Amino acid sequence: MATIEELRQRIRRPLELEHQQAYPNTSVFGGLEKLFEAPHIRRHFAEVYDLLANYSQLSPEERSAKVQKALNLLDSKAPGAKVFIAEVPLESEFLEILALEEPEIPDEALLSLEVYDIKQNPLKTPLAHVQAATLAKDLPSKAAFGFQDIDAMLLTGKVNLGAQAVKKLAAIGIESYRDLLFYFPRRYEDRRILPSFAALGGQDQVTVAGVIQSRKGLKSQKGLSLLRATIQDSYGAKLDLVWFNQPWLEKQLYPGLSIIAFGKLKQKSRHLELQVQHMEVDDDSESLSTGRIVSIYQSTQGLSQAYIRRSVFELLKELGRIPDYLPKKILQDSYLIPLSQALHYIHFPPSEKDLQQALRRLKFDEFLFLELRILRNRDHENLGKKHKVYKYTTKEFSEHLPFKMTKAQSRVLKEIMDDMQSPKQMARLVQGDVGSGKTVVAAAAIYVSVKNSFQAALMAPTEILARQHFNNLRQYLFPLGVRLELLIGSMTKKQSDLVKAALKSGEIDVIIGTQALIQEDVHFKDLGLAVIDEEHRFGVDQRRKLLAGKPDVLVMSATPIPRSLALTYYGDLDLSIIDELPPGRKAIHTRLVNDSKRRDVYRFAWGEIKKGRQVYVVTPLIEESEAEVMAEIVSAEQMYADLLAIMPPECRLGLLHGKLSGSEKDEMMARFYRHELDMLVSTTVIEVGVDVPNATLMIIENAERFGLSQLHQLRGRVGRGSHESYCILIAGDRSKKTHQRLEVIEKYHDGFIIAEKDLALRGPGDLKGTRQSGMPDLVLGDLSQDIDIIEKAKELAEKIVATDRNLEAAWAERLRTELTRRIKLTSLREIM
Ligand code: ADP
Ligand code: MG
Repeated sequence: MATIEELRQRIRRPLELEHQQAYPNTSVFGGLEKLFEAPHIRRHFAEVYDLLANYSQLSPEERSAKVQKALNLLDSKAPGAKVFIAEVPLESEFLEILALEEPEIPDEALLSLEVYDIKQNPLKTPLAHVQAATLAKDLPSKAAFGFQDIDAMLLTGKVNLGAQAVKKLAAIGIESYRDLLFYFPRRYEDRRILPSFAALGGQDQVTVAGVIQSRKGLKSQKGLSLLRATIQDSYGAKLDLVWFNQPWLEKQLYPGLSIIAFGKLKQKSRHLELQVQHMEVDDDSESLSTGRIVSIYQSTQGLSQAYIRRSVFELLKELGRIPDYLPKKILQDSYLIPLSQALHYIHFPPSEKDLQQALRRLKFDEFLFLELRILRNRDHENLGKKHKVYKYTTKEFSEHLPFKMTKAQSRVLKEIMDDMQSPKQMARLVQGDVGSGKTVVAAAAIYVSVKNSFQAALMAPTEILARQHFNNLRQYLFPLGVRLELLIGSMTKKQSDLVKAALKSGEIDVIIGTQALIQEDVHFKDLGLAVIDEEHRFGVDQRRKLLAGKPDVLVMSATPIPRSLALTYYGDLDLSIIDELPPGRKAIHTRLVNDSKRRDVYRFAWGEIKKGRQVYVVTPLIEESEAEVMAEIVSAEQMYADLLAIMPPECRLGLLHGKLSGSEKDEMMARFYRHELDMLVSTTVIEVGVDVPNATLMIIENAERFGLSQLHQLRGRVGRGSHESYCILIAGDRSKKTHQRLEVIEKYHDGFIIAEKDLALRGPGDLKGTRQSGMPDLVLGDLSQDIDIIEKAKELAEKIVATDRNLEAAWAERLRTELTRRIKLTSLREIM
């Protein structure tokens, strides 16, 4: 892209050179005429072009006259209207190219725009030529160039989906164009060809379309309801569809209605039957719902699939081309399709390949922004507390331990000590398997801080955990003369006021607690070290309060992630890994069984309970959104009800699930802890490490629904006491793949090895299977599956940050804007 002024200079320079060198016609390779090969230069400097038309044939005297005249001509031209000229290898959409490559043209300056294809030689008229006069009339806004701001609100933006739609979408949190465009499908159904029912069979899950002939609702003795409908396809073949426990559907499914259904095909004794998992009424005129690969969105009340599809479709149509924040060169180098295309394809994929490419692009962006954020934060050096670390301090601590620290513990402690000695603020993550001895290491760091006359705090996500830490730390530190206190919400006001006063005056060295530590009226005398257990449980605001005094920060996490991934996941923290368990740990006997053995498993459980032990039963967490797909999963509630029936009446059962409030959860957990319950049925909320040493058996239902690392984590809840401990995985699915995966847990006991096996085993699965990333930046991206994309994105991010850390280059303006809009998760360093 050039302005007239720049073009003028481009001609001027060789002419001056000619003048200086007595007109040898060598200043332009191939002769001065070559200057005018480009059509736009001829067009704008027609007089000069005419003047120099046959330059090579002229004598030096003639040349001299012409060059001087040409220079005069060039000078006399006052800077005219602002005309921008794009010289680009044109592909179909030149405006997009402009948008991609030349974001530095401010729109106000765009009085005239000409686009020439430099590949097209020689002369060609401009492909687009917008004169200043027409520009004012016809191109009043960015919109005409496809510069739609996707952050416009649906309610006020130019694209009107109708007031009703806007209201409905707002109800599920979709308020802006962006929200809707990035409301990605959860999965896809291939409806390009819907087979005749006659050709079904042999498949497991199918999509069918047909017209309802009849339907009938039935009730079982146990009160379950079943709805059966017969549909007929366009070839005249018939198929039975069944729904369980959705009696209200009977009214909606009247004969004559066209429907599309997706579900499991079951061979009954004499006929095939489809157990419906997902259904849509086929009233789609533009067939967004059939004859193509169809996107299925998170289903929500009051908003049908077809409706969401339609809204996205209309929006995409109206928006037209969505500007890209990555320049074309980068897209080419990284094999990425343009953003606009990716957003179209993710919602309406023309083919599997297009869908893959769309996914790749959108995932790439997620990782790119994540990596950019991480890299840009990493080098900010905050000043924190400077500790003096004397050898005898740590030695004194070690000598009071009833055991010797493992090599890994000593190594990590040294890493922490190095940080604490430096004036730089420590921000270190200690990662280690459950029971690897993180708490001991944290205690040593706390002791060092206290010996430096600072205070230290340890914050845990729940009261039980806080209490447990308090008891442990007291064991380690009280004999060394450290004054410790507990501060939790359930204390009386009088108690907590006392603690707070003592904390403020400095009578307390170490405070251990929950969120209670970050109330307004909690003041430290001088906080030197903050230890945070399981950091992901805390919100940014909460951390901000604790970290206001710039203490050194140590975060403990028991989630093992391979190092390569940890750098992305916890990119803003320095990483220490305790990759060794203390000697003499008993392995937890682990077995994988089919669900046909369930009764035996619970008989065994009763045996443990009769011996005075306790049992965990874990069921997969049910995301509401997956309700349909999860129809077969035993929910915690159902499980609880079943167990009430199966287990002897004297078995004391408790139920813990995500719908309970924080204090209800704590209370239920505390009852189990106090052995007022024998068996605790729970969704994965028990993941976070509470020690109940008397619990010796963990039963995991539908184990295939969990990630391997998660299973390992869960297993770590038993085997904490002196009794033999067991973990039984009940597989609800008998496929070979499932067994292969779960056998890893049976075989291995090291969290890091398991994490790596997990990584290696997981093929490209569902678009959104059971993922555990928990990172709000990642919607599509999966840390365990997208390693190659992560690496590419990281490479690019590194390149960008190395040359332009604040993204100040003109081309990066859009990228910078997008980055700020995307950051949802504020990192630890950012708030320190
Ligand atoms: P984590 O916090 O990593 O889950 P803890 O620090 O709570 O682990 O340690 C788990 C148990 O192992 C505790 O009972 C602790 O006393 C014990 N322990 C820690 N380190 C060692 C060691 N080096 N040798 C023997 N036992 C240890
Ligand atoms: Mg712990």
